[in-house]
Formats: sequence, C-alpha cells, structure tokens
Amino acid sequence: MTSENLSCLRIAVALPIKETFTYAVPDILAPRAKIGCRVLVPFNNRKVNGYILEKIVRDNQPGLKEIWDVIDPEPMFPRQMIPFFEWMAKYYLHPIGQVIQSALPGGLNEKIFKTAILTEKGMEALGRLPSHYENSKLLSWIKENPGKRLSSPLSKLEPFRKKGWVIIENKVRKRRAGPLMRKFVSIKERAHLQALLREKSDSLKAKNEVAFLKRVSSSKKVLLNDLTSEFTNGLYLANKWMKKGMLESSTEAVYRNPANEILSPAPVPVKLYAQQETSLTHIRKCIDKGTFSTSLLFGVTGSGKTEVYFHAVEHTLNSGRQAILMAPEIALAGYMEGIFRSRLGNRVAIYHSGLSQGERYDQWMRIARGDADLVIGARSALFAPLPRLGLIIVDEEHDSAYKQDSNPRYQARDAAVVRAKMEKALVILGSGTPSVQSFQNSVMGRYQLLKMPERIEKRPLPEVKIINMKPPEGKRAVKGILSPELKKAIDLNLKAGNQTLLFLNRRGFHRLYICRSCGKPVNCPNCDVALTHHLKDDQLICHYCGFRSQTNMKCPSCGYSGLRPYGFGTEKLEQDIEKFFPEARVARMDTDSTSRKGQAFKILKRFSAHEIDILVGTQMITKGYDFPLVTLVGVIAADLSLGFPDFRAGERTFQILSQVAGRAGRGTQRGRVIVQTFNPDHYAISATNEHDFHGFFEKEIGLREQLGYPPFSHLAFLRLKGNSNKKTSEAAHYLARNIKGILGNWPKRGKEMMVLGPVEGTLSRLKGKYRWQILIKSKNPSILQHLLNEVENRSKSFLKSSGVHLVMDMDPYQMS
Ligand code: ADP
Ligand code: ZN
Repeated sequence: MTSENLSCLRIAVALPIKETFTYAVPDILAPRAKIGCRVLVPFNNRKVNGYILEKIVRDNQPGLKEIWDVIDPEPMFPRQMIPFFEWMAKYYLHPIGQVIQSALPGGLNEKIFKTAILTEKGMEALGRLPSHYENSKLLSWIKENPGKRLSSPLSKLEPFRKKGWVIIENKVRKRRAGPLMRKFVSIKERAHLQALLREKSDSLKAKNEVAFLKRVSSSKKVLLNDLTSEFTNGLYLANKWMKKGMLESSTEAVYRNPANEILSPAPVPVKLYAQQETSLTHIRKCIDKGTFSTSLLFGVTGSGKTEVYFHAVEHTLNSGRQAILMAPEIALAGYMEGIFRSRLGNRVAIYHSGLSQGERYDQWMRIARGDADLVIGARSALFAPLPRLGLIIVDEEHDSAYKQDSNPRYQARDAAVVRAKMEKALVILGSGTPSVQSFQNSVMGRYQLLKMPERIEKRPLPEVKIINMKPPEGKRAVKGILSPELKKAIDLNLKAGNQTLLFLNRRGFHRLYICRSCGKPVNCPNCDVALTHHLKDDQLICHYCGFRSQTNMKCPSCGYSGLRPYGFGTEKLEQDIEKFFPEARVARMDTDSTSRKGQAFKILKRFSAHEIDILVGTQMITKGYDFPLVTLVGVIAADLSLGFPDFRAGERTFQILSQVAGRAGRGTQRGRVIVQTFNPDHYAISATNEHDFHGFFEKEIGLREQLGYPPFSHLAFLRLKGNSNKKTSEAAHYLARNIKGILGNWPKRGKEMMVLGPVEGTLSRLKGKYRWQILIKSKNPSILQHLLNEVENRSKSFLKSSGVHLVMDMDPYQMS
C-alpha cells in the first residue's frame, strides 16, 4: 500500500472507552503512521494518546478528524499482537486502549504544551514596530525561540494569531522514560594519531596526554564518562583533540544493564537424563511443526525442568523464532536470568515491574526491534513485543501470582495460551504441582502431559512427617508455636551443620476461625468455603452466598464450643526461634523484611553462602531456589491456608506444602519435612505425605464438579466500593436485581448461570472504602461476558450518581 491511497486509521485511544475510532491522516504524516505506533489525536476537544491498530483504505470521508501527530519513529509492538490485545480487552472487560497502555512500559504519556512560530508577515511587523514596545519584545522572543514553551498567557498572542503574524502549535514534552543517551569519543584520524604518538610532538603538553590518547585508541569508542573519571583533565583533553580534528564525539543510545547479581548458576550439564530427553523429543517436534500446542511439563521439584526449558529455548532460537520465559515472581525471574544469560549472553532481555521506567523502556524497544531473542520476566513479560514469537514457557504455572489484581485483571498463564494460539507458538506450562485446571486440561486431551517423576540422580524425595497438633481427647492444646518433634529436628540439623527453612503461611487474613479441638476451619454449609470473620458485628459470613453465623456457635464438625481466632506472624516465630536456638544464625524473609529493593536477593545470597542457619519466612521462601544444604523444612501451621475463604483453599494448601517440601534435600543428603497441622486427615495435607498428586487431584476434581466450581464453570466477581456503606449496599442490591432481571429474560441461557450475593466484603473499610460483592457462576464464559457488558451499560449512570465504583473480575483469584 502506498501512502497516497491511505486515508484512514483505526485507533484505540488510551481512555476508558471500549470502541475504537477512525481518523484521517494528513499526507505529511502518512509515511510515519505505522501500525503499532502511538499517535496524538483530538478527542472531545482534548488531545489524547492513541495506538494505530489498522490502516483502512477508504475514500476521503468529509468530517473525519485528522490525527495530530505520530509520536513514535518506530512501532511499539508488532501487528500480530493486535488480535491478542483485542481478546484481552473483551475477555477481561477492559477498554482496549487501556489494555495496550498498561502493556507498554510506563512513563510514556506525553504532556502537551503550546509553542509559536513567527510568520513572514510577523517578521515584517517586527521590523516596523518600535523595539521598546511590549508587542515587539514578545514577537522577538518568538523569533529567537521557535518551538519553545510559551510563558506568557495565550490570550496575549491571540491578536497576533488573528493578524497572521504567528502560528501557534501544540508540542509534546520530552517523555520521562526514553532511551539513555551517552556521549562517546573515538579517533577520527587513526594513522595521524599514531604518527603523532611516535613523534612525541610538542603539542602533547599535559603530562598524561599520551596516556589519554592511548586510552582512547584502545577501543573503537570510549564512553566520555569513563574518560573523565579516569583522567581528571579528561574533558579538557577530549575537547582539545576534537578541536584539532583528531578525535570525534558521538551521542548514542545505550542500554542500562538491569542484570541482577547472579546466584552462581549451576554448570551446564554434560548430558540430559532420560526423562528430560523424552520431554524434549516431544517439545522439539512441536517446535519443528510450528503450530500451536500446549504441553504440561509435570516434573517434581528437582527433576530438572530448567534444563528442559533451556533446550526448548535453544531449539526455538535455532529455528529462527523467539521465546518468552515467565516466572511467578521478580526474584525468580532474576534467578532464571542468571542461568540463561550465562549461556545465551545478550540475546536475553529481562522485563518486569521491578525495573525502573527507563530500564523497562530500553528493554521494550530492544525487544520490539528484534534485538533480543529470549525475554525473561514475571507476569508482564507476556506482552513482550517479540516479532517472531515461537515459544512461551510458564514456570510454576500453578502460581496465583500470574493473576493480576489490578486492571486489566488478566491471568498471564491463561492469556499466554491464547497469545500462543494466535501466533502459532508452543506453550510449556511447567510445575511440580500442576493447577487443577491445567491438569484437567491434560486429562481432557487439550494439553499434552509430559511427566518427569524422578529427581535428578534419583535423589529420593524428602521424607514428610505430619505432626498432629490436635490435643488428645480431654487434653488442652499444645502451648507455643513449635511441637517438640520440630524443635528436636531443628536442633539436630543445626548440630549437623545443615540449614533449615521454616515456613509460615500468613497471607491476608489475621483472624481465621479454626476449631481448636478438631482443627477444621468453619465452612459454609452451601459453598464449602471457609467462613470469614467480620469484626464489626462479630459474625462469621460466607463470602460467596452471604450465609451468616454467630462466632459463639458450636463447631459444625465436632460439636466443640469455644471457637477462637487463630494465627501469629513470622516475626513472632523468628523471636521464638532465636530464643530456643541462641547460637543459630537466624533470618526472616517476608514482605516486611524485604520491602526495600534488593533486600530479598541479599537474604537469599547470604543463605546460599551459608551465612544463615535458619531462614524463617512466608511464601517467598517456597519458590524454586536451589539450596543444597537445606535438609530440614518445617511447616509451622499447614491449616492456615485451608482456612482461606476460597474454593481453591485445598488446592493451594497442597501446592504450598509440596513446594515447601521440595526445598528439602536438593543436595546429596536426603531431606526431611515436618508439617504441623490440626487436620492430619484432610486430603490436601495427607496427600503431601506420599507426594501423591493424583490422590489429591481425584478428590479435588470430584468436589469441584459437585459444587460447580472451575474448571467446571467460569466465575465473575463483581466488587463495589464506596465511601458510604448505605450507598454501596444499595448499589450492590440494585446491581444484583438488575443481573437477575436480565437473566430472567434469557429463559434458556439464564438457567446456566447462578448469582450469589450481594454480600458485604470482609475488609469492609479497607482504605476507608466500604465493599460489597456479587459472585456469578456460568458454564459459558462468552455468555458471562455478554451479561457483564449489559450490566455495566445499564448501571453506569446509577453507579456514577451514587459515587460507587464497580470492579469486574473475570476468573477471579481473590474473592474477599
Ligand atoms: P526443577 O526446576 O525441576 O525443580 P532444576 O531444574 O532446578 O529442577 O534441577 C535441579 C538440579 O539438577 C539443578 O541443580 C540442575 O543444575 C541439575 N540438573 C538438571 N539437569 C541435569 C542433568 N542433565 N545433569 C546434571 N545435573 C542436572
Ligand atoms: Zn456460602
């Protein structure tokens, strides 16, 4: 297509608007208007950012607005990502322009200001006017400063504009996050310089001049910054020899190096194990075919999945395509980067929210230009603008960190499968404890199951011992956090010079109601999820259906009366440990102790160097690091995760326990795991004992089917937030009535859906906001989206007038 017959563009604006819009392109901008570039467009009398999605050849339509500018000299993303953005917008109910905006590196939004240029007529006028006139001063400022921001009020210039003396223009302020530019110095006349150095000519006055020139000639280009730090008179010398024409300078974009320090990656193995080879044979075949497919790599912790990832990436790169490797957390992505960078060097780019805006921008542009072949990162790496995507690896695919809990509320693993399908790529989902959803997909034949059931070198899985914390009949509960068994094990481990990890799950809720006698969480009779304690009216409430109960009720499982809240933090645990083992070196790793940048990494590094004997921590310590000296893992309160008001509580408990257990005995010595629990017979806990994923899965999938939870349904979670409880509650009821009304009009499809609530949320005054919620279950996700769009349209003005904010969450992970 030539620029002559291109007249229109389809553009997504970065505003909360679902539709896309057609704009005309002025001829002068046409060659620069490429798909994937950002533009500035007029919109309701404002200038806003937009993204070019499509070029439309059309006869000139009168009245069509013209784009105002093309911001980017090169596209920010390849065109094949557009259907993916469109899918994201539709599925996760978020406007497309904002989906793209949130995918791109932050800090790109330009600020606009006014400038003026003097016209021929204005020049003449300036010549005529006496120079002391106010007008004359203003005009001459404009003449001297074309394109500069105007400081005087625009009203002053209006008469000039009317007379045709000046043209007023919008300009864009330089973006905050741009490429990092640095000055380099290089030699212009190499032969000449060498001759000069040989002659030791008189012009080499300063005593370090020879050293300086030799330094410059030591490489093709030298950073000016380096020269000024190595030579105190470096700037003077550089300028002197540039004036003489011997040196020249250039300003170039450089990449910031965000590479983390590396926790000494393991050496490249000489030979793959049989189970790795078998998995790779299948993976290579898929890559060679070049079509879409998904493999679920079910490899127990320590089975060597990382090596499989590496060979899969290598094969993809060799076939001319590119890869994304996602890890659930930034720290883990950094760890992976260390391994991959040591083998692939600069073909690796890293992309996650832990980078500064500038770093993110640099990495993004490198990827968009095709300068990097493997992108490693957390959730947001899914949007890496690789032009030839062939492979997406989702490590620890079961991890709920793949779900973003702010808009757009995407699940990066699920979305990865969609992106791969659109780009005919292979997806590898790796886990030692696959999600119920992914495993069910493999059972249904949608995903290819690749199993790696053995640890490398046939190292045995750790021995898991479950300690019953439930007091014997008629006795009182054990005092304190540690059971005698765990205390003894820690002591022995210390004496043997080995390391211990102590894990305490402490996510979110501080007041969980667990029966102190039988240890069972108090569940809703309808929904089988744990009830949540509401402080305000001291009641236990089901967050799904609204069932309520008093806190002084008898335990529904054992009849014990006297339910009490349960829970303590990692800090308390750390103090207890220090008290019991004063000679041990103890450290704690949780969100509080690692809030400063790089802190988590430091702790891990110290642990890795055996400067710490006992590491106490939350979820953060359970993820894939490899510490060979850890031979004991203690789980302090396995029940805490069972008590989450969530249908995935059992799944999470099993996953967390298995992952934690996997940290033990990764070296040559066999590991031990001690799990303290009030519920030794719960299937999610007892299955850990035998490392029995299948036993756990069979039980869990049966319960899900019975209660109609995912993967047998799709959920949408509607959360309402407002400053007034009355208004928020009214809005929630209004919305629920509306939804039921709509469903009533859909006789057939309406029956496939179920509306639960509205229910008041727990942290009902979180950040000063009252929260209400509604849960919708549906067999079919597209009907659910249809319903939600309808609901949103109908309730918009009502919500606005009552000051209540609505959040719609597809496939929610946090429902409280
Ligand atoms: P997973 O991610 O499955 O838990 P890793 O990939 O971390 O397991 O592998 C565990 C350990 O085994 C690592 O130290 C790794 O270097 C080592 N390893 C993996 N494959 C091989 C191999 N083929 N030969 C020797 N060592 C291997
Ligand atoms: Zn319920």
